[in-house]
Amino acid sequence: MKIAVLAVQGAFAEHIDKLKKLGADCIELRQISDLEQDFDGLILPGGESTVQGKLLRELHMFEPIQDRIRQGLPVLGTCAGLILLAQEISNDGNVYLGTLPVRVQRNAYGRQLGSFHCEQEFEGIGSVPMTFIRAPYIEAVTASAEILARVEDRIVAARCGNQIGIAFHPELDEDDRIHEMFLKMCG
Ligand code: GLN
Repeated sequence: MKIAVLAVQGAFAEHIDKLKKLGADCIELRQISDLEQDFDGLILPGGESTVQGKLLRELHMFEPIQDRIRQGLPVLGTCAGLILLAQEISNDGNVYLGTLPVRVQRNAYGRQLGSFHCEQEFEGIGSVPMTFIRAPYIEAVTASAEILARVEDRIVAARCGNQIGIAFHPELDEDDRIHEMFLKMCG
């Protein structure tokens, strides 16, 4: 099993560590030629969505990645990665890949509560630790998307077919079950 991790900015190294621990091979996507390799799934890490979106375009990786996702490549977007996937961003005029039918709000918890940790139920897994860092949340999902987790009535994870978007950072906690679930989707 080979998983590609977008590695232009942000918390990609933590995802790679986690995937390696679970026995998956990883490739880092840094330039368009990296997309020539075969891979079974893609992770879009946390970081800064505006920077990542700009770099995806500058590096000419935007459309090839968008096409692969539309064709069914399993993808996990965490935090900024969720923002890149979202079809709509309520407090930002930009849309990036726009493949996941959800509306997100960026930096949705305000400055005071910008970063926090909790434990909540995740569909199909049980209670998981959740670390939020200047996180978005999902304001709305379309009927085709399934809600996977909520924190105090706010949707923080959703799935639509081959795509999962998560507002928090599963790569930063000890718990491996979200990455395990994603690897099953890829296999
Ligand atoms: N605030 C960042 C953004 O808007 C996301 C933060 C993160 O990925 N930890 O892109």
